[in-house]
Formats: sequence, structure tokens, C-alpha cells
Amino acid sequence: MIEIKNITKRYSDIAAVKNLSLKIDKGEVVGLLGPNGAGKSTTMKIIAGLIIPDQGDVFINNKSIRNSPIYGKKRIGFMPENNPLYKEMTVKEAIELALDLSNFTKAKYKERIDYVVKATGLKSVFYKQISELSKGYKQRVGLAQVLVPDPEILILDEPTEGLDPNQRAEIRSLISELGKNKTVIISTHVLQEVEAMCNRIVIINKGEIVKDGSKESIVNEQLKHTTITLSLRAETEPSFEFLDVKVTLQGINNNKFTYELIGENEENMLKQINNAYRSSNWDLLQLKTSTQNLEEIFRSLTLN
Ligand code: ADP
Ligand code: MG
Repeated sequence: MIEIKNITKRYSDIAAVKNLSLKIDKGEVVGLLGPNGAGKSTTMKIIAGLIIPDQGDVFINNKSIRNSPIYGKKRIGFMPENNPLYKEMTVKEAIELALDLSNFTKAKYKERIDYVVKATGLKSVFYKQISELSKGYKQRVGLAQVLVPDPEILILDEPTEGLDPNQRAEIRSLISELGKNKTVIISTHVLQEVEAMCNRIVIINKGEIVKDGSKESIVNEQLKHTTITLSLRAETEPSFEFLDVKVTLQGINNNKFTYELIGENEENMLKQINNAYRSSNWDLLQLKTSTQNLEEIFRSLTLN
């Protein structure tokens, strides 16, 4: 379990993270979503114990990282932004390096290597030099190194950044798989990434959490508006006074009338339109429903 309590981190006059609190339970796969400069990397480095906050503290399984910095470090695998690797090493050497830095005895090496190579799909490039690998495979090497000590928490800073769509999909499914047994925090500024991998979304903007919840709850809560565009042909202008939704006449062209209806409950709105249609002589020309999607919610929460 990770508990972030009121952390603040300033860089001269910029507060990269402002009094931020967040509790993450064991086994959650949390997506930290926010535009560039939102404070995602700073927050992750603080959780990983690489930066000490100016104020506040982080508790890993109830142990303060200020008082027990080693405890957290031992349980967290952190993959930084841009995944720095020694490019002249082979994949094998990179994994062995991570093993040398871990607490495993040499006797355990083979078992760990077999596990991470299988988990990250690196078998076919095991003896290759990292510089020769595609970006997607380099990312897998970074993940393999992070997985070597078998951390219970994975913190991955923009793990899919710079990958092409196929590589993204591969890394996503790899992370989803890892999320079955571990607590995972990933950051991204790409919405589709969290939609695909995470069961919880934390939207962060200017160092503060602006939204926190399951994907469904965020969408549902924000879905206050359904917009229906209705075009019809009628002899005389229809009256929508009986509808308990906001109706705006958008245009009249000969006998063609176009309306915009805004309401909360799509089903109810459609029912009312249907009733009105049945007791009228209109020709229905177009009926278009649109609801706010996660993309629009994200934009509305993170724009100034
Ligand atoms: P994100 O990862 O969401 O893009 P960061 O945590 O990297 O955001 O940065 C948050 C803010 O803190 C930005 O305004 C950034 O310029 C600033 N910042 C981050 N690291 C440093 C640093 N080492 N020195 C000065 N400013 C920094
Ligand atoms: Mg960042």
C-alpha cells in the first residue's frame, strides 16, 4: 500500500507538486494522467525515494520513506522517463547487471533471468546489443531490469512514450499482465494509455489532483450533458415546449428545422422525442446523440 500525504516540491518559484495526497491499495493499476509539466515525474520520483519532498511524506506499507528510505526502495521498481540504458551492453548483460545490484545470490540468477526474459518477451534478442534493438524492445529491457529484484510496486514513467502504435500495444499488454500481480503506477499524457491499462485514473494538473476515480466513475460523473441534434421536416414549426430539456432552434431552411436538445438523461430524452414524433406529421431527417468522452473530460479538467 502506498500513502502519499500532503507532499509539496518546489523548484525555485515553481511548485511542481502542491500539497498532494493519494492512497493506492495493493494490486491497483493507477494511471497518472496529465499534460507535460503537470508534476507526474516529480510525484513518481518522490514515491520512489529519489527526491525528498519539501513537505509531506510517503508511506510504503505504513513505513515512512523519510524514516525508512531503504524499505521503500527495496519494494519499488522505478523506470524513469526515457528509460536510460547502457546501449553497448547486450540484453543478457543488462539483466545480469540488474541482478548484480539486487539481493539475489548467484545461485538464483538463472531462475530470475528465465522469469524476466519470459515475462518481457526478450528471448529472441537475449544476446543482442541494446543499441541494435527497436525502441519497443529497448523498453522491454528497461522493464526487465526493473522486474529483476521482484518489486511489489512498479512505477513506470511514460513507458509507452516514443513507441509506434504496434509497440505501444505490446507494452500495454505487457504492463496489464504485470498488473495482475503487482501494484503499478504509470504516467502518461496520452489518454488511450490509461484507458487500456489502468483500473484507476488520477488526473493531475499543475501539481494538483483534479480528478481521481475509476474510468467509469469519472465518465459517469462528468456526463452531465447529452446533446441531441434533431433535424426534421414539418409543415409548421413544431413546438417542443412539453419537453423538460433545453431546446434551441439552430436553423430553418425551407421546411427543415434543426434543433439542439441538451439534457442529462439520454434515454429519457429519446423517449420524449419519440413520443413527440409519433403524435406529429414530421419527417425525421437526422437524429444525432453525442456524449462527452474521456478525452473531452480530460481537456476540460486540464485546460487553464
Ligand atoms: P511532468 O512529468 O508531468 O511533465 P514534472 O514533474 O517533470 O512534470 O515537472 C513539473 C514542473 O516542475 C514543471 O514545471 C517542470 O518544469 C518543473 N521541474 C521539474 N523538474 C525540475 C528540475 N529538476 N528543476 C527545475 N524545475 C523542474
Ligand atoms: Mg514527466
